[in-house]
Amino acid sequence: MASMLRIFCGWALLTALAGCSGARPILGDLTQKPIRGESFWNAHFQTNDWRTIPLALRISESPSSLLEYVGQLNSLEGFPSDTRPAQMDSEMAGAIEATLRMLPVPIQKRLQKKLLGIFVVNNLGSSGLTESVFNSQQGLVGGFIILDSAVLAQGANRWCSWRENTPFTPSPGILLQCQVADSTHDSRALAIQMILIHEFGHVLSIGENYHPDWDQNPTQELSLTHYPFMQLGWRQENQKTITRWENAYPSRRDIHFYSKKPALPLDKSASIYQELESTGLISLYGSQTVFEDFAESFLYFIHCELNNNPYRISILKDGKLLYQYQLDWSSPRLQAKRDWFRENFLIESAE
Ligand SMILES: [Zn+2]
Repeated sequence: MASMLRIFCGWALLTALAGCSGARPILGDLTQKPIRGESFWNAHFQTNDWRTIPLALRISESPSSLLEYVGQLNSLEGFPSDTRPAQMDSEMAGAIEATLRMLPVPIQKRLQKKLLGIFVVNNLGSSGLTESVFNSQQGLVGGFIILDSAVLAQGANRWCSWRENTPFTPSPGILLQCQVADSTHDSRALAIQMILIHEFGHVLSIGENYHPDWDQNPTQELSLTHYPFMQLGWRQENQKTITRWENAYPSRRDIHFYSKKPALPLDKSASIYQELESTGLISLYGSQTVFEDFAESFLYFIHCELNNNPYRISILKDGKLLYQYQLDWSSPRLQAKRDWFRENFLIESAE
């Protein structure tokens, strides 16, 4: 698996590739690019240790070498993007800084040690991506995030509704709506916050044992006991990683976000969310891989459990509510996952 995660990728067009969550092309040589090395970032920040730079100073427009790197990445992946510099508008910068300040202190401290930067470009080829960075001994030290300025222009509910519809083809009379904010809190800043928190989840997983390294060959036999988060919901079968609920959740294998040819009709969405509700998984998006399960669980743990926002999917037929999925962290199906996040992210380590 290549080193990149295109997070919430392709608000626009380009996401039929498996970049968000599935198998990725092998991009091993890109891990050798200077920008993937810690020494590049120390030079960029003019320091001997990038960790000493305050997080707020790691948010900026993209350096030229980062633009070049994205161009190489897109070309290897078949994304026909023409990535260009972008201005970091004040609303976006404010939303990013506010997101960092809003996070619980133990999480801010971890980001201080793992997040090399948040950069903005135009025409990224997706709405965001996370890349890992290595030290001189090829050990993982952290990651950087790139956001596309143009695609972060919607309110949170509109963004979520758009995203949750992408695995489906339209069915007459059926409407799927997502609500992640009540009307007084819905904003572009909240959409940026949610996209960032998902990305922060990926960054925080780098170099940890929550799940395997996403660079790792996915066919390699894994010992689940090494990966405590993964153990909560995933298992290995015939060298493939699958969930613990494949029988109760048969639609899972047909869920492909941002596909140009979605495999699922919208009139099946109610039964698919019913299936999801019988598992310990959080969202359809997070059902795709253990990596996305982690990032989605992290996002909605912060968004719903800590910040008391909704994550609610309403499916309507001819204007009448057919089914509603509402994430509830107090439900028994999520108890183990909630406990795990509390223990691992809310308690300050003794380091
Ligand atoms: Zn992701």
